[in-house]
Amino acid sequence: MKILVINTGSSSIKYQLFDMPEGTVMASGLVERIGESNSVLTHKYFKDEAYTHRIEQAITDHKEGLNLVVNLLCDSTHGVLQDTSEIKGVGHRVVHGGETFQQPTLIDEPVIAAIEANIPLAPLHNPANLTGIEVARSIFSVPQVAIFDTAFHQSIPPYAYHYALPHELYETYRIRRYGFHGTSHMFVAKAAAQFLGRPKDELNFITIHLGNGASIAAIQNGQSVDTSMGMTPLEGIIMGTRSGDIDPAIHSYLAKQTGKSIQEIDTLLNKQSGLKGICGSNDMRDILVQREEGNALAKLAVEMYSYRIKKYIGAYFAVLGKVDSLIFTAGIGQNSKEIRSEVCQGLKGLGIEIDSDKNANRSDSPQAIQTTDSPVKILVIPTNEELEIAEETLEVIST
Ligand code: AMP
Repeated sequence: MKILVINTGSSSIKYQLFDMPEGTVMASGLVERIGESNSVLTHKYFKDEAYTHRIEQAITDHKEGLNLVVNLLCDSTHGVLQDTSEIKGVGHRVVHGGETFQQPTLIDEPVIAAIEANIPLAPLHNPANLTGIEVARSIFSVPQVAIFDTAFHQSIPPYAYHYALPHELYETYRIRRYGFHGTSHMFVAKAAAQFLGRPKDELNFITIHLGNGASIAAIQNGQSVDTSMGMTPLEGIIMGTRSGDIDPAIHSYLAKQTGKSIQEIDTLLNKQSGLKGICGSNDMRDILVQREEGNALAKLAVEMYSYRIKKYIGAYFAVLGKVDSLIFTAGIGQNSKEIRSEVCQGLKGLGIEIDSDKNANRSDSPQAIQTTDSPVKILVIPTNEELEIAEETLEVIST
């Protein structure tokens, strides 16, 4: 069965077409700069081998973009389908499900209204996700499913998700911790259980998603019980351009000292901070090279980055009591032996000991990189959020 997965941004559409349940990718691509004169559609399709086709033309809106994608999917040269009717379901990534959505959900009018009601919690993302849903519903008359970044973390208990603010702020504005990257944390937890050959509801994990955005989750018996991101993705560990945890009093101090508005400070913390703020780059590959070349700020950035992750590992160890496995994933987690090594350094007392030879081995498949004596398994597991969305879509439309 063919399932199309769509991730819509304010000026972009990312897509992947899967043949399920095998999970084979038939085509994937990205429409960028929608609404500008220099829009680009990069379409990859997989037949006997992988091919890429690029279209550069003005694409006025998301509907035009998705229609171009659908035409390409069925095109006799670049396509992989005879007809769009072969697509039996569409899965949409939706960033914020608030407290409304604990599960992947079949989309209908009340679901759309509930995603709209959560716009104040994700004012940039949810409107774009809704545009994708609206456009896809105008093109396909098949069931469509919303998969929420926040849903996996809805199992976090109240003492972990509440902020110590006046309670009426939670009642009125739903201010609480929600967490994000849920699809990725869930995917790698499932993959780790499979790799270890044990049921996921008997295992405790600390999952460490280190991409440009980054978060850590404490997973107990297959359920998220805490995570580092909060009401927004700004909280937690240091990210590419986000500060992660800071003293909340810095906001008002900065406003007083610099005269910056709340909006400007928000932009500073989300877009100009993190690794980029510390050393000028948010690309970990560049930062590691610069550190080798003796750049003191690159060295500081790596030290701060690894130290902050280590502190969360300690905290989540205490939360879970027993940890079966640490799982590294996403761009930095999967690819940087340096960061994995620095994060795990000095954690022997917690039963975490990395094997430097295994850690140096690069692989696209899940692998274990702990020493034979390390009680805690250290796993590197490539994440695949799109495949997780396709699997959940299939599950919802099959029931
Ligand atoms: P993602 O958001 O998951 O695509 O991850 C992006 C981050 O992964 C960027 O900071 C990249 O520099 C980093 N990354 C990708 N490949 C490597 C690598 N080989 N070594 C270190 N960092 C990497």
